[in-house]
Amino acid sequence: MSDTDTTQASSSGLRTPIVAVLGHVDHGKTSLLDKIRGSAVIEGEAGAITQHIGATAVPLDTVSRVAGSLVDPTDFDLPGLLFIDTPGHHSFTTLRSRGGALADIAVLVIDVTDGFQPQTIEAIKILQDSSTPFVVAANKIDTVPGWNPREDSPVQGTYDAQSDRARSRLDERLYELIGELSDHGFSADLYWRVQDFQKNVGVVPVSAMTGEGIPDLLTVLMGLSQRYMKEAMAIDVEGPGAGTVLEVKDEKGFGATVDVVLYDGTIREDETIVVGGTNEPIVTDVRALLQPRPLAEIRAESRFDRVEEVSAAAGLKIAAPDLEAAMAGAPVRVVRDREIDDVIREVEAELAEVEVSTEEEGVVVKADTLGSLEAMANALAEAEIPVMRAEVGDIAPRDVSIASTADDPIHRTILGFNVEVLGDAKRHADENEVRIFRNEVIYQLVEGYDEFVEDSRKAQQ
Ligand code: GDP
Repeated sequence: MSDTDTTQASSSGLRTPIVAVLGHVDHGKTSLLDKIRGSAVIEGEAGAITQHIGATAVPLDTVSRVAGSLVDPTDFDLPGLLFIDTPGHHSFTTLRSRGGALADIAVLVIDVTDGFQPQTIEAIKILQDSSTPFVVAANKIDTVPGWNPREDSPVQGTYDAQSDRARSRLDERLYELIGELSDHGFSADLYWRVQDFQKNVGVVPVSAMTGEGIPDLLTVLMGLSQRYMKEAMAIDVEGPGAGTVLEVKDEKGFGATVDVVLYDGTIREDETIVVGGTNEPIVTDVRALLQPRPLAEIRAESRFDRVEEVSAAAGLKIAAPDLEAAMAGAPVRVVRDREIDDVIREVEAELAEVEVSTEEEGVVVKADTLGSLEAMANALAEAEIPVMRAEVGDIAPRDVSIASTADDPIHRTILGFNVEVLGDAKRHADENEVRIFRNEVIYQLVEGYDEFVEDSRKAQQ
């Protein structure tokens, strides 16, 4: 380790931009990610693509192979793109970093036929709130009547080669999307007509099924990152690592582990880290850093490779004592040559960014992660719904007991976002006249509760 001491001078470098995929259920988020991974693997030699935990890295030369003539790698100095594997606005809100979203850029997937749907609107609100730049992947163009799919081709060329009829049908739908984006305050256009991606949202027609438009999408993401985000990608590669917990999981042979997306610096085996926990920051020492083995090499004894060091941006699994109490969405910080107390304060300050203000009388809120709790809290504050307690976790009998202490019957309520109802909680709730509302779309959850409040008021009159 001593030779690293002599190379303390900061080594600056450019990290990979982190890309999130959002959109309404069934519009093709998972298929799109699979296709990006698949195209990259087909086009490149095996192993060109690196599977991380929680994220997939597509290096620049793979992007350029997939994108063919659309990308000349010498035009870029960013290392590639890191796609967060779990699609959806849910994972987007989970993945916070200091002061905002972890993702640098987002792909909003919209089924070209189905158009705007509740989760599309919710995703747009979240992207707007977090000022995250995004492009629209107008998906399933292969379903447009008369469309003549061409495998894995840049869609711009395919588009020109279609019959007038098919093209005008697709155009009609694309312009409808562009109109809806404009209703939400975004000026948008087909990506090849966009001059300035900071002023206009680029719409990329794609098919996650045939692969059309994937080269275009990768090109737009790469170009956007290179042109507008390069400075934000400059990190001190050798600096103490900073990341966000994606998930807390028990792993055979390792005990409690956390899946983390590292967005800054480096993390090494045996280093001391501070991780945001459900009660207080956890100070622990890294026992192992794990990354998935290439699929072909997975052996029975372990699905993971131990690595000594991981640099941003990357997904990885950390095994360390005391991680049971780690919280999804919470920060992870490497202490390195800093005072532990300073790092603890940093972690606390970041957690405090999402502190929900609570009152003596109000509803109980449960959400699956810190980020979604924050999104819930914002939505409830906007709707002027008071909150008595807000916590990360499934709905347990204890939450019912707390909710049952509210004076006003309309507050004897638990609002659960993306959480389960545990064991006896349901029965306990019925016995204590506590209502449980659950939903996976925040504003529907809030609307559902508002309707209930209105009905109760009417019933009282
Ligand atoms: P998600 O819920 O947004 O992750 O959506 P999925 O990726 O699971 O896709 C939902 C359904 O749409 C699946 O049956 C997919 O096979 C299908 N699908 C996704 N993309 C396309 C596409 O480009 N074309 C066609 N025809 N079907 C698609």
